Amino acid sequence: MPYKIAVLPGDGIGPEVVAEALKVLKAVGAPSEFEHALVGGSAYDATGNPLPPATLELCRQADAVLLGAVGGPKWDRLEPVELRPEVGALLPLRAELNLYANVRPAHTFHALVNASPLKGKNGLIDLVVMRELTGGIYFGKPRERREGGTQAVDTCVYSRFEIERIAHRGFEIARQRRSKMVSVDKANVLETSRLWRETVTALGTDYPDVELSHMLVDNCAMQLVRDPRQFDVILTENMFGDILSDEAAVITGSLGLLPSASLSDARDGRVFGLYEPIHGSAPDIAGQGKANPLAAILSAAMMMRFSFGDAQSADRIERAVERALNDGLRTADIAGHGPTISTTQMGDAVAARLS
Ligand code: NAD
Repeated sequence: MPYKIAVLPGDGIGPEVVAEALKVLKAVGAPSEFEHALVGGSAYDATGNPLPPATLELCRQADAVLLGAVGGPKWDRLEPVELRPEVGALLPLRAELNLYANVRPAHTFHALVNASPLKGKNGLIDLVVMRELTGGIYFGKPRERREGGTQAVDTCVYSRFEIERIAHRGFEIARQRRSKMVSVDKANVLETSRLWRETVTALGTDYPDVELSHMLVDNCAMQLVRDPRQFDVILTENMFGDILSDEAAVITGSLGLLPSASLSDARDGRVFGLYEPIHGSAPDIAGQGKANPLAAILSAAMMMRFSFGDAQSADRIERAVERALNDGLRTADIAGHGPTISTTQMGDAVAARLS
């Protein structure tokens, strides 16, 4: 059975980087059917809705979703805020598709070790942030509100069920890596964090082969800069994960190289997921052939691994990316003062290095 992939290129550099990811998926021989749909500002312009019902329905029918990026100055001030691409498309996509487990690897490539702001003094970083994506303070009810203009309220809620399902995912991913997981919370202050720690600790007895420890979020933020190599899998809640995953990304030194997966439960034996680069729509370089497509290409590799259980194709794509970088090929964002190639040339280079 071919895999049915919903392709949502989105705005800005989204279509440019997604085209290269599709090129590589086709070259790797993935038995896939691709169906395109509008999302974000381009969907708003065409239909008045950043997440048209047809797009949501296509995603529901698909085995996996490949997304570029959404947003841009043209749509960032739309009112009501639900019309803006991130609020009106990304958040409802996550909620509607039940994408509760966000997996963000932060990995430095040999060839780019000096691009890290830590200047390679910590060697190669290879960790994964597992962020809970559909609960916590971004979704808690009663929703955020102002009280009398001088006071504001947000609500953080977590249930044992929500913590257990993301923790299971974290333990499973740790098992496929170096079997170490640090669960990050603020248990010295927050009740939701105490429930988080209690729940993860209890579940840990089902995974005796995974070394579990706990860390407070403020300490984790510091340790990521001090000694990122101590981490294998970092498991954490929505808001802490939002911040820590960006911190982990920046210490690798290259926004254009980092992929992500947002996973739901398995359907018919396949894990449903949405795959996207972590960067945004980069309006400053859109349409100029300057975007680095490697994050989108590596997101496609994650799709092969997680949704289609095809670790071999995923490894082939990741090795081809490594080879292109080792051969000195660079888009402008990672070239320093050296020679650069275009978005499509980088896609071609990766496709040509698949072995
Ligand atoms: P951004 O990630 O789009 O860009 C930040 C900087 O990194 C820019 O200088 C950009 O040129 C560069 N950059 C990003 N990706 C690159 C790539 N692949 N190759 C080369 N350079 C790259 O973040 P921003 O500027 O804060 O946001 C721009 C728009 O994107 C906003 O509308 C924002 O809301 C949206 N956004 C969307 C997502 C998403 O779709 N998931 C994520 C973040 C931001």
